[in-house]
Amino acid sequence: MLDLLVIGAGPAGYEAAACAGRMGAKVALVEEKYIGGTCLHIGCIPTKLFLKAAEVKRLVKNGSTFGLKSFDVPIDMPVLQGRKKSIIETLVRGIEIQQKKAHVDVIRGRAKIIDKHRVDVNGQHIAAQNILIASGSQPAQPPIPGLASGNVVDSTAILNIEALPASIAIIGGGYIGLEFACFFSAAGTHVTVIEKLPRIVDSLDADVAPQLLADLQHQGITFHLSSAITKIEKSTIYFNSDGQEHAVRTDIILNAAGRMPVVHNLGLEDVGVDFDTRGIKVDQRGKTNIPSIWACGDVTGRCLLAHAATREGIVAVNNMFGRKDYIRYHTIPAVIYTHPQVASIGFTEAELVNRGIEYEKALVPLAVAGRAYIEEENPRGFVKVLAGTKYGELLGIHIIGDTCGDFICAASCMMALETRIQDVHAMVFPHPTLSEALREAILHLVK
Ligand SMILES: Cc1cc2nc3c(=O)[nH]c(=O)nc-3n(C[C@H](O)[C@H](O)[C@H](O)COP(=O)(O)OP(=O)(O)OC[C@H]3O[C@@H](n4cnc5c(N)ncnc54)[C@H](O)[C@@H]3O)c2cc1C
Repeated sequence: MLDLLVIGAGPAGYEAAACAGRMGAKVALVEEKYIGGTCLHIGCIPTKLFLKAAEVKRLVKNGSTFGLKSFDVPIDMPVLQGRKKSIIETLVRGIEIQQKKAHVDVIRGRAKIIDKHRVDVNGQHIAAQNILIASGSQPAQPPIPGLASGNVVDSTAILNIEALPASIAIIGGGYIGLEFACFFSAAGTHVTVIEKLPRIVDSLDADVAPQLLADLQHQGITFHLSSAITKIEKSTIYFNSDGQEHAVRTDIILNAAGRMPVVHNLGLEDVGVDFDTRGIKVDQRGKTNIPSIWACGDVTGRCLLAHAATREGIVAVNNMFGRKDYIRYHTIPAVIYTHPQVASIGFTEAELVNRGIEYEKALVPLAVAGRAYIEEENPRGFVKVLAGTKYGELLGIHIIGDTCGDFICAASCMMALETRIQDVHAMVFPHPTLSEALREAILHLVK
C-alpha cells in the first residue's frame, strides 16, 4: 500500500508529491494531461512569455527614449509558439527529474476515487493510506446565451493562436482578462474589455484599481464596466450598460470570466467528500471531511495562484506525516503582470475598515527611487503601505509599477516574519532599484 497517492501534477500536486517522497514516503502521482498542470502549460508560464514579447515590442517601439532608433515590429506568433513549446518541454523535464529524485512513481492516466483508500487509474485499483486531490481548475462558463456557439475561445485555446486577430473582446476584467488585454493591445490588436462589476479586479485596493484602469485605457484598451452581457451571436457581444443595450463586434471573443474547480468524475460523491461549486471543503491543514482524503490548490477554491497551491500542497503533506503546519494567506503575494504590473499582499484598506482594524497608511510614488526615471520617462506608479496603529505591524502592501512583481517578495518575507515598520530601518535594499521605494514607503510611517 502506498503512503500517498496524489491526483493531479500541477504546482500543488507535483510539489506535494516530491515533498512526501523526500520524507521517505511511498508516493504515486497521477496525471491525465499535463505534467506541470495549468500553470506550466496553459497558465502562468505561457502568458508571461507572451507578456514578455509585448514588453520587448514596447521597448523597441520606444527605443528613441534610450537613444536607439524606434521600430514598430510585429510579433511573430509561430516563433513565439515555438519558444513556448520549448520552454514547456524543458520545464516538464525538470519536474520529471524532481519526481525521480524524490522516488515518486509518476503514472499517466485519469484517477477516480473508489473508496477511502483506493483509486482507480486506467482500470487498475491502487491502494493508499492517504489520497491528496490536486485536480486544479478550469475556465468557468458563465450562463450567457450563445457563449457555446459564438466565436468564443477560453484562456487555453487563445494561447495556441498562430495569427493575431485585428480585434478582440474580452469577457471579464479580472487578472487573466487584463493580462491578455495587455498582450493583445501591445501586439496591435484592438481590445475591448467587458466587465459586469463597476471596477476591474475586484480584489484590488481602491487606490490601485483606478490607476491601473487609467493606465490601460491610456494604452488604447476600451473598457465597458458595470456591463451585463445579454447574449453572444457569432462574433457580436450584446450587453446592457447605463440602461441601454450595446453591441461590440470583434474577430474573436475571449471568455475570461473566472475559473471553477475540477470536481467532476473524481468519485467525490460516492466517497462522501464535502464539496460545492466553489471547491472541495478543507480545514486549515488541507484535510477534507474524510480523514484519509486531503485536497490542495485551485480545487479547494481558496486562493487561485500557483505559489499558494504549492504551499497548500506542502502544508497538507506535512500534516499528513505528523508535522504541524498551516498556511497564512495574508503572507501570500498576488501579482498581475500587466503593464504596469500590480503586486499586493495582505489586507486592502477596505478590508481593514470592514474588520475595524486601526491602521495608518502611506502612499509614496515610485519616483522616490532614482531607478524609476531609468525605467520610464514619467514614472506614475506608487507603493501603498498599511500598518497597525499600535504596534506598527505590516498589514498590507499594494504596489503599481513595472517589476513590482519581483520585489513584492521582500514584503512577503517581512510579513511572514511579522516585521514591524520600525524594524525596516535595519534593512538595506540595493541601489538603484525600485525596491527602495518600498522601504521608503514603510519608513514614511515610522514616527
Ligand atoms: C491564463 C492563466 C494565467 C495564470 N497566471 C498565473 C500567474 O501568473 N501566477 C500564478 O500564481 N498563477 C497563475 N495562474 C493560476 C495557476 O495556473 C493556478 O493557480 C495553478 O495552476 C493551480 O495549481 P493546481 O496544482 O492546484 O492545479 P492545476 O495547475 O490546474 O493542475 C491540476 C492538474 O490535475 C490534473 N487532473 C485533474 N483531474 C485529474 C484526474 N481525475 N486524474 C488525473 N489528473 C487530473 C490536470 O490535468 C492538471 O494537470 C494562471 C492561470 C491561468 C488560467
